[in-house]
Amino acid sequence: QTATSTVSLQHRFATELPELALSWQAVETPQPRLLALNGPVAAAVGLDVDWLRTPEGVGLLTGTRVPDGAAPVAQAYAGHQFGGYSPRLGDGRALLLGELTDGAGRLRDLHLKGSGRTPFSRGGDGLAAVGPMLREYVISEAMHALGVPTTRSLAVVSTGRPVQRETLLPGAVLARVAASHLRVGSFQYARATGDPELLRRLTDHAIARHHPAAADAEIPALALFEAVVAAQATLVARWMLLGFIHGVMNTDNMTISGETIDYGPCAFLDAFDPTTVYSSIDEGGRYQYRNQPVVAEWNLARFAETLLPLIDADQEAAVPRAVAVLETFRPRYSDAWSAGMQAKLGLPDGLDEAVAAALIDDLLVQMQRSHVDHTSLFRRLALAARDDREPARGEFLDLAAIDAWLDRWLALGPDADAMDRVNPVVIPRNHLVEEALAAGTDGDLAPFEQLLDAVSAPFDVRPGLERYAEPAPRDFASSYRTF
Ligand code: AMP
Ligand code: MG
Ligand code: MG
Repeated sequence: QTATSTVSLQHRFATELPELALSWQAVETPQPRLLALNGPVAAAVGLDVDWLRTPEGVGLLTGTRVPDGAAPVAQAYAGHQFGGYSPRLGDGRALLLGELTDGAGRLRDLHLKGSGRTPFSRGGDGLAAVGPMLREYVISEAMHALGVPTTRSLAVVSTGRPVQRETLLPGAVLARVAASHLRVGSFQYARATGDPELLRRLTDHAIARHHPAAADAEIPALALFEAVVAAQATLVARWMLLGFIHGVMNTDNMTISGETIDYGPCAFLDAFDPTTVYSSIDEGGRYQYRNQPVVAEWNLARFAETLLPLIDADQEAAVPRAVAVLETFRPRYSDAWSAGMQAKLGLPDGLDEAVAAALIDDLLVQMQRSHVDHTSLFRRLALAARDDREPARGEFLDLAAIDAWLDRWLALGPDADAMDRVNPVVIPRNHLVEEALAAGTDGDLAPFEQLLDAVSAPFDVRPGLERYAEPAPRDFASSYRTF
C-alpha cells in the first residue's frame, strides 16, 4: 500500500550542494488532471503507477503533496544564452523534488517543470502550458526509443490554472526523471562564486553520479572533463544522424551526464538542409542543424574554464592540459558520426575510410540539392539495396548524379536489414506533433496518445501507422516555426 509518506526521496544534491539549492514549494493546482503517465518510467524508479493516479500520487507529480522530510529545491545555475553570459539563471519554473533510486541502484532526479514562480523567475510567471509539456513528453520518449540518452518524461498534469501566452492557454506541470540536472551552467555558477571548495564539492558530486572512474584519475577534474567531452561528442553525433535540432543549446541546457535535456523549440529535420533553424527565437541561426557540433565544443570550452583551478593550481599550466582534452572533441565526434553514417548506409566493416567519407559527402550534397526528406530516405535506400531503386531515386532532382551514386554504393554490398535496424521509420514529425498538441490543448488526447504509441517503436513498420512515416506536406515543412 503506497502512501506519499512511503515514497523515499533522497536529497543528495540539496545536502551536498546547499549553495546551489534554494528550498522552495510548488504552487497549488486548482484542478489537477492527469494527462499522461509513463508506467515503465514510474516502475523504473520504484513508483507505483496505480498510486500515481490517485489524488495523493497526482499531488506528488505536481509537487503539491510531498513526502514528510522532502526538501524540494530550485537549483541555481548560470549560463551563456545565445553566447551572452547570465550570471544567475536557475530554476525559474522548475523544482527538484529529490532523488529516487532505480533498479540498478542509480540515483535519478525527480524534477518538475511549470511548478510556479521561484526566486529565479525574473520576469517569468513560473508556469508552463499543456502544449509545450506534452511536446517535451512525446519528443523525449521518442528520443529514448531511438536510443538517444535523454531525460525521461514521467507525467503531465494539467493544473486548471490558465497561463497567459499569446493567448490564454491551459496550464500544466511536467514531471521528469533524469540522471541529474547538473549542467555546464551549474559549474559556471559555482566557479563565479569564487569559492574553490564549492567547485570541488560540485565536481566530486558530478563524478560520483556520472563518471565515477574519474575519481581514480591523477587529476579527477580533468578526467571528468574528458568524460563529458566524450559523452557530448557521441550525443551530438546521434542527434545529427537522426536529424534532431535541439534549438537552444545554451550552456545551461547542456548536461554533465550526457543526456539530452530541455525540449523547448527542438524539432526533427524534414527536408535535408544543414542550415535549418526552426526556433523563432534563434534569429541569428546560432543553433542551426549544422552548427550543433561546434556549439557543443564551444560549450565544453566554457565548462573547461570553470574547472581550471582544479586542473592545476597554476592556471598557466592548467590551460594546455584542458585544451588537449578539448581537442579530442572533434575526432571523437567525427568518429561517432562517420561510424553512424556507415551504419545508416549498411556499409561493411573495414571499408576504406576515404572511400566511405567520399560516398557519404557525395550523398549529402545530393540530399541538400534535392531537399530530400532526411528520415524516409534511408529506409528507401534499404529498398534500393533490395533491388528496388525507384523509391529512393525518385526523391532526387539530378537523376544522373544519383544513379551514379547508387551504382557506387550498391557495388559495396550494403546490408539492407542492418540499415533497417538503425534507420527509423517513425520520428515525431513536426506536423503530427503540432496536430497532437493542438488537440491536447483542446482536451482531446487521442492524437497525442497515438503519436506516442507510434514513436515508441520507431524502427517497426506497422500496418495502420503509415501516416506517421510520411513526410510533412511541403508547404508545412518550409514555414515551420517552434517557440
Ligand atoms: P530555457 O531556455 O527554457 O532553458 O530557460 C532559460 C531560463 O529561463 C531558465 O532559468 C528558466 O528557468 C527560465 N524560464 C523559462 N521560462 C520561464 C517562465 N515561464 N517563468 C520563469 N522562468 C522561466
Ligand atoms: Mg533550460
Ligand atoms: Mg525550456
